[in-house]
Amino acid sequence: MAYLRDCHRIVVKVGTSTLTHATGHLNLRRIQSLVKVISDMKNSGIEIVLVSSGAVSAGVAKMGYGHIPSTPEEKQAMSSIGQSELMKLYDKFFSDYGHTVAQILMTKDVLENPIRRSAAQNTFNRLLAMHCIPIVNENDAISTDELTKFGGNDILSAYIAKVTHADLLINMSDVDGLYDSDPRKNPNAQLITKVEKIDDELYKIAGGAGTDRGTGGMIAKLNAAKIVNDCGIPMFIINGQDPEILYVLLDGGHIGTYFKADKSLKEKNTDE
Ligand code: GLU
Repeated sequence: MAYLRDCHRIVVKVGTSTLTHATGHLNLRRIQSLVKVISDMKNSGIEIVLVSSGAVSAGVAKMGYGHIPSTPEEKQAMSSIGQSELMKLYDKFFSDYGHTVAQILMTKDVLENPIRRSAAQNTFNRLLAMHCIPIVNENDAISTDELTKFGGNDILSAYIAKVTHADLLINMSDVDGLYDSDPRKNPNAQLITKVEKIDDELYKIAGGAGTDRGTGGMIAKLNAAKIVNDCGIPMFIINGQDPEILYVLLDGGHIGTYFKADKSLKEKNTDE
């Protein structure tokens, strides 16, 4: 099955563990490689929205803290230092491949308010029509509570896929996909290549599995898959270690875990 064949618009989510070294500093080689593949996907005619984490980690590394601060205020300050660092790099690397990036920092209340959501949708549509690559992150610097926070970029990326009416969400993580047991504990754990239905059994399986860095474990990824699947958008979890793995999808192959969606639900997505 050529998963990308009918995809005109794709949201790609990339996590902190993919974008940074264990030291917290940005992994330049990997970011550059990611930018190259996304540029190629864009050159092939697919509209891309990139949801990127890494701001807090980049800020911490830049300030030489050595660890993620515990107070929300400090974390928020780090995110605003790191966000500009992150965008500086994306801007530089995407420019090298002839693409223009645009930053959108999102809070949950924006998507819950019809007027503000519609304004955001118009901006996404206009940017994509201008052949730009919107790069989205949670507006960590000003989001503090239940009302404004998405609770991680796995969930944010699902809402962005929904609000932009994307055809696919690709979640790039530091694991190959969803396993039938925790691969860090069980060497015989098998990768689940295709999920037809997200049920309690799957949540039980995902409960034990996590990722090494960043905020999103497997449960968050399942929640994200559920949000998009419910409005007819399929999702992949793939390993972002080598971003060139995206070429496998572009060439019609299969990698990671695919969460199938009933595409007829897409027409019912009233999130206009
Ligand atoms: N927004 C956070 C950051 O840029 C990351 C949140 C997440 O990884 O889920 O550092």
